[in-house]
Amino acid sequence: MRFAKRNFRLFVGLIAAVLCLGGCIQPEPDGTENESATQPNFEQVTVEHYYETATYAYATEVDEGVLATGLNKAYLVLANKNYVLGEEYEPEELVTLPSKWTTYSMKLDLRAANALIEMMEEMTAAGIDDTYVTSAYRSYTRQQELFDGYKVKEMNGFSTEAYALLGYEYIYSHYIANQMTGLTPADAEKVVLSYSAAPGTSEHQTGLCVDFITQSMAGVLDVRFEDTEAFAWLSQNAYKFGFILRYPEGKEETTGYSYEPWHYRFVGREAATDIYYANLTLEEYLGAVGE
Ligand SMILES: [Zn+2]
Repeated sequence: MRFAKRNFRLFVGLIAAVLCLGGCIQPEPDGTENESATQPNFEQVTVEHYYETATYAYATEVDEGVLATGLNKAYLVLANKNYVLGEEYEPEELVTLPSKWTTYSMKLDLRAANALIEMMEEMTAAGIDDTYVTSAYRSYTRQQELFDGYKVKEMNGFSTEAYALLGYEYIYSHYIANQMTGLTPADAEKVVLSYSAAPGTSEHQTGLCVDFITQSMAGVLDVRFEDTEAFAWLSQNAYKFGFILRYPEGKEETTGYSYEPWHYRFVGREAATDIYYANLTLEEYLGAVGE
């Protein structure tokens, strides 16, 4: 087992190297790159899979067909601060998620939704029935609205996030001492970027990821999710359904995001299994970080 795992790590490393040599395109610093130019090229890559590790403890039926995707580009699309989706990017086919698993009406990519439903069925069968999806697909326009809304809020006061990023001294000397009651647009944007994705850079625009929340969290999504039964279950099982923990602890440098125990991304079961066993981020898997 250990031997196999080491070999697998080497194998993934090799793939990352091949990907980088073959198709690593550094994003333009001004963020003007288009989608087709920035997605890593992995057409000729083959990856060893670990299907046999996926066993389902409770549900009587799991549709394997909706979990496997192959290394399909559509499900491995990268969206982060460097790989910008842009205003035009839209998921191919969106469906509304069953309301019993969501906190309000929301949509997800068809295949990701089917995989999510299989996963929720299995999780419920395991006795975890207090978990909901609180965020799924978000359009460019919606992200723009949210972003602008946050900016207005920062321009109308000094938030905890503003103090955390800019520091008390800065806010006092630049603002309070000058009888100003909110941040300038430039500072406001800087603060908002510390907790919200800019339009076009949110993974939620792919329609391939969800945020979970439990009933006990009373509508406030934060790292307490890590202490839930749902998190413990997802940590062991999400990959079997093609989902990965997208922003793991200790990987902030490669993802560009702080730890988000609640955010799960569909990549298909082949990639999810490989990413899970090799302890990688999506960026590392795609060879999109580093040189
Ligand atoms: Zn999220």
